[in-house]
Amino acid sequence: MRFSKAFIYTKKEAPSEATLPSHKYLIRGCYIQSVGAGLYNFLPLGKRVLDKIRNVAKEELDKAGCLEVDLAFVTPLELWEQSGRVQKYGKELLKFRDRKDNSFVLGPTHEEMMVNLVKSYVNSYKQLPINLYQIKTKFRDEIRPRFGLLRGREFLMKDGYSFHSSTEDMKREFDLMEKTYSNIFRRLGLDFRIVEADSGAIGGSGSKEFMVLANSGEDTLVICTNCDYGANIEAAKRAKRKAPLVANEEEAVSMTFGKFHTPEVKTIEQLSEFFHINPFYTLKIVAKKAIFEDGSSKVVLFGVRGSDDLQEVKALNAIDGAIDLEEVSEEELKEAGFEPGFIGPKDLPKDAILIVDKELENERLIIAGANEKDYHYVGLNLNDLDLEYKDLVEVKEGDICPKCGGVLKFSKGIEVGHIFQLGTRYSEPLDAKFLDENGKLKPFIMGTYGIGISRLVAAIVEQHHDSKGIIWTKESAPFEVEIIISNIKKEEENKAGFEIYEELIKEGIEVLIDDRKERFGFKMSDFELIGIPYGIIVGKKIKDGIVEIVDRKTLNKEEVKLQDVVEKIKGYLDR
Ligand code: ATP
Ligand code: MG
Repeated sequence: MRFSKAFIYTKKEAPSEATLPSHKYLIRGCYIQSVGAGLYNFLPLGKRVLDKIRNVAKEELDKAGCLEVDLAFVTPLELWEQSGRVQKYGKELLKFRDRKDNSFVLGPTHEEMMVNLVKSYVNSYKQLPINLYQIKTKFRDEIRPRFGLLRGREFLMKDGYSFHSSTEDMKREFDLMEKTYSNIFRRLGLDFRIVEADSGAIGGSGSKEFMVLANSGEDTLVICTNCDYGANIEAAKRAKRKAPLVANEEEAVSMTFGKFHTPEVKTIEQLSEFFHINPFYTLKIVAKKAIFEDGSSKVVLFGVRGSDDLQEVKALNAIDGAIDLEEVSEEELKEAGFEPGFIGPKDLPKDAILIVDKELENERLIIAGANEKDYHYVGLNLNDLDLEYKDLVEVKEGDICPKCGGVLKFSKGIEVGHIFQLGTRYSEPLDAKFLDENGKLKPFIMGTYGIGISRLVAAIVEQHHDSKGIIWTKESAPFEVEIIISNIKKEEENKAGFEIYEELIKEGIEVLIDDRKERFGFKMSDFELIGIPYGIIVGKKIKDGIVEIVDRKTLNKEEVKLQDVVEKIKGYLDR
C-alpha cells in the first residue's frame, strides 16, 4: 500500500479528553475517529488492526471446533423479559420501538438470542455439545464511556456460547476455552494473567478473566508473589487474617461482656482509641441501600472487622435479588429504625438484614454498637447471635495467599476476555430443553465466553508504546514493514524503494511504502507514531547499495546490503 493513497492523516495533537496513550495515539495515528461519547469510526489503518485481531481469534476458535454465526443485532425485548435481565441491565440496555410499536433492544450480549436459536434446532443429547460464536457489534449505554476504545458504547465483541448435556462436559469445554483464549492472547503478543472473577450480571458460577497487565487498567488484580494465584479484587480471597500480636491483646482476651457508655464514639478510629484496642477486635457496620429487580429498595447492613474494608461487589452478591447498592444517608438510616454510629449485631430491629464477614465466624470477643445512642457492647460473643456469614472483605496488599501462603500484591489490568460456567441460568427461564439418554427433558447446561475485540486494539497499545507512539506486536500490526523513501525526488531512492516493496509483496509480506513528498524527519515521526514493527529506510547510502532496517521497538538502525534486506526482514518476521 502506498502511503500517499492510504488515507493516513496523522495529527500532532490529540483531543483534550484523550488521557491514555492508546486513546491519544490511535486518534493521532489516524486509526480511529471519535463520533460521540463512546462511538468511534474505524479508519483504514484501524480497520486493518481490528481485522488482524479478529482473524487471530477466529483461527484459534475454529481450531477448537467452535462454529461462527452472525445473529441479529436488533433483539426482541420479549426475550430479555423472559430471562429477567431487563432490570438487571437497567439503563445500559438501549431499547426502542419500531413503526408497529414492537419493542427491541440493541444487543449488549447475546445469551437470550443464542438460547432461543439453539432450542429451535436441538432437542436431543445426541446433538450436543455445540459451541457457537460470533464477532459482532455490541451496544451498551455505559454510564461513563471513556478511554477511547477501552470503554466504548458501541464496540466489537467476540461472544461464544456452548451447550452441553452435563456439567462435566461444560467444564471440559470451559478448560478448552481457557486454553484457546490463552493461545489468542499469546499470539497477539500480550503479557496477560488469568484471574478468578466475579460473575456479575451475567450470573452463574465459576468464571475467569483474562487481564492484560497495564498501569492504566481499570481493574485491580490481586496477584500472589509466590504462586500463580490471581483474582480480580472483586472476587479475591485471602488466608484468614490472624489476630494481631499487640501489647494490648491481653486486654482484648480478658474482656468480659458488658454494655459501655461511649458518648459520641461513632467511628472505628474513635472506638479503638476509646478502648485502647486494635480495630481488629471491633465490628464495623456498613449500611447500604439495596435496590431490587422490581425497583423496591431496603436498607441492608454488612459487618466486617474494624481493620477491614467492605468489598462492594461481594456485598452486592451477598444480597439475594439485589441489582445495586447505593449510599444511605443518616436520615434514611434513622427512618429505617437504626442508630447511626451505634449499629451492631445484637438487639437489631426484627426485620433488619445483616450479613457478617466469614472471618468473624466464631469470634467471641468483639466490640460492637449496641443499637442505642452512645452505647457499645464489649466482649460480645457472636456465637450467641443467629448471624449469616459470607465473604465480604476487600483483600489488601500484604495479605496472605489462600493457595500457597505467599504474600499478595496488587497490579492493574485491562479485562480483555471473560469465560463463564453458566449452568442453566438462561436455559431454564427460556425453557430450552433437550431429551437426555433416559428420555428425560433437561435444560441445557451452558458456558459463555467473551473477548473484547475492539478493546484489544487499545489494550495492545497500552502495553506496547513509548513516548513517540505505538509499537504494534507482529500479529496485530496493520502492516508488517514500512519502507521510508528518504527523498522521493531522487530517482535512485525511489527505484530501490519500490523494488524492495515489490519483492516483499511477492513474499506475502504486508508493506506500506511512504512515497509522500514530505521531509524525511516528518516521515520518520509518522513511522514512530503509527508503530509498524520494522522500517526500511532508503536514503543517500543507496548509491553504495546500502539501506537501513529500523526496529520500531528499540529504534536501533542496522545497515544492510540492498540484496540482503528481504531475507533479513523475513527472518525478523519469523517467515
Ligand atoms: P467491564 O467489567 O469492563 O464492564 P464486563 O464484565 O461488562 O466488562 P462482559 O460482559 O464479560 O464484560 O463482556 C465481554 C468482554 O467485552 C469483556 O471482557 C471486555 O473485554 C469487552 N467489553 C465489555 N464492555 C466493553 C465496553 N464498554 N467497551 C469495549 N469492550 C467492552
Ligand atoms: Mg460492563
